[in-house]
Amino acid sequence: MTTMAEKPDYSLFSNAFGYLRQPLDFRPLESDADVVVIGLPFDMATTGRSGGRMGPRAIRNASVNLAWEEKRWPWNFRLADYVKIVDAGDLVYNCGDAEDFTARVEAFATKVLESGKSLLSFGGDHFVTLPLLRAHHKVHGTMALLHFDAHTDTYSQGSKYDHGTMFYHAPKEGLVDPAHSVQVGIRTEYNPEGHGYQVIDAATANELSSDDIIRQIRERVGDMPLYVTFDIDCLDPCYAPGTGTPVIGGLTSDKALKIIRGLQGMNIVGMDVVEVAPAYDSAEITALAGATLGLEMLHVWADSKGLVK
Ligand code: MN
Ligand code: MN
Repeated sequence: MTTMAEKPDYSLFSNAFGYLRQPLDFRPLESDADVVVIGLPFDMATTGRSGGRMGPRAIRNASVNLAWEEKRWPWNFRLADYVKIVDAGDLVYNCGDAEDFTARVEAFATKVLESGKSLLSFGGDHFVTLPLLRAHHKVHGTMALLHFDAHTDTYSQGSKYDHGTMFYHAPKEGLVDPAHSVQVGIRTEYNPEGHGYQVIDAATANELSSDDIIRQIRERVGDMPLYVTFDIDCLDPCYAPGTGTPVIGGLTSDKALKIIRGLQGMNIVGMDVVEVAPAYDSAEITALAGATLGLEMLHVWADSKGLVK
């Protein structure tokens, strides 16, 4: 199997189907991977424009343009020297069956995590994060949540399969502790007393420096196990138009990257990027943002885990 460490014998773009041009590996548990990438092609919990189910393949496509950089700027190490990544493809489930999907995500993620590997998951709509959190909770206990989004996703009306309700349920199930959690980029209605998370709304985040935001996150999270979830609509639609519910006034991609880099040394246990919906995208802007945020998360995760010598 070709790894990033070897010089591939094919051209830069031929046969590049997996994330970062990694070969697809449908038996990730049998691999010696440190990180398993999984696509979650699900958008049945979307309230507005659907299409997030096509997110993983768009992210893989865009990620091909990120694979050439041997040592990603501005990091001082080459990820492939320290971290083995396999792309397990997209999760298979019974089409149209949200309950089956939810159970399969949790079962797959639990198996991966119990084998000692970590997960980088690409949605799919944001609902995918709830079964992911359930699996991570089994291995890591109650976690802090760092949640990038235009929406708090703490709403409790409507179906239980709703991409706006995960972070209402997650604390009730004991998966995350809002008192150690932060939501960044919020710019839609929420009840400030209602849910207990710290909110750094988009207007505030756009005024603050990334260092100020990082300081607040570090203070709030401390050394708790940290799950990072990035709804691509946290970014302003000019950086991420390809998503179901875009809201203007969001973060720049530059600021988002700086905040993620600023998590160095924190106890990151899980990561996802969700809500990329390529049908509304333009020139792969959103898919590239999703792919790059994932790659940046992998760097900060590897560094924080002490894998980089
Ligand atoms: Mn959102
Ligand atoms: Mn969301």
